[in-house]
Amino acid sequence: MKRRLIYIRMPNSNTLQIRQIIFENFNEIDLRFNNDQIYDLLKKTENFDQSQTIDDLESDFKKLEDDGLVRCIAQNFTTRWFKIFDGVEKIYCGTCNTDIHLGKEESRICPNSDCNANL
Ligand SMILES: [Zn+2]
Repeated sequence: MKRRLIYIRMPNSNTLQIRQIIFENFNEIDLRFNNDQIYDLLKKTENFDQSQTIDDLESDFKKLEDDGLVRCIAQNFTTRWFKIFDGVEKIYCGTCNTDIHLGKEESRICPNSDCNANL
């Protein structure tokens, strides 16, 4: 029987990292940014599972759209362009002891899916 590689990661650690990247690099309402730019920055992030391809992040971007952090404004083949809905704030969640990043329009709920505390 072949050994299978199993990798475990927190269910939403990518989305938490993408939130931080948007906060630090693209936190302007009129700024356009795309998934390739985010992916390049993610690859420089410690803790990022380097075996992940940009296609693996599709569901994470979808989640951030559903959460109301970003909206997709254009798509050119696999490149998807986004804008934030509103400024992104850094908030400390005392329940999971984590700095999280939340758009001003979003529900005041910790985006760490292991936490989901009211902020
Ligand atoms: Zn939390």
